Amino acid sequence: MTDTRRLPGPTSDIWEWQLSGRCRGLDSDLFFHPDGDRGPSRSARERAAQAICATCPVIAACADQALASREPYGVWGGLTESDREEIWTGRRSAPSREAARAAS
Ligand code: SF4
Repeated sequence: MTDTRRLPGPTSDIWEWQLSGRCRGLDSDLFFHPDGDRGPSRSARERAAQAICATCPVIAACADQALASREPYGVWGGLTESDREEIWTGRRSAPSREAARAAS
């Protein structure tokens, strides 16, 4: 018989925070750039997505997940692709949980 104590926990425990995301049900094109989206159009789209993230109750968990998993695409936890790249390369620090919560 398999010892289930050695198996990983349910995946839903890791992703459950997504059920509370403000982006739930919104057009994903706002958070993930469509092909060819660059320049002012891209910046405006990212700012609109970040405004939604700023009101999201799970912004800290979302940012943590995107940074930990090195998510390459989209706006997650109020962080754009460029923001995350700057954090990964040490050009800026990751937002603290407190700062992320204060923004929400
Ligand atoms: S922080 Fe932004 S991307 Fe993350 S769940 Fe909330 S609204 Fe969606």
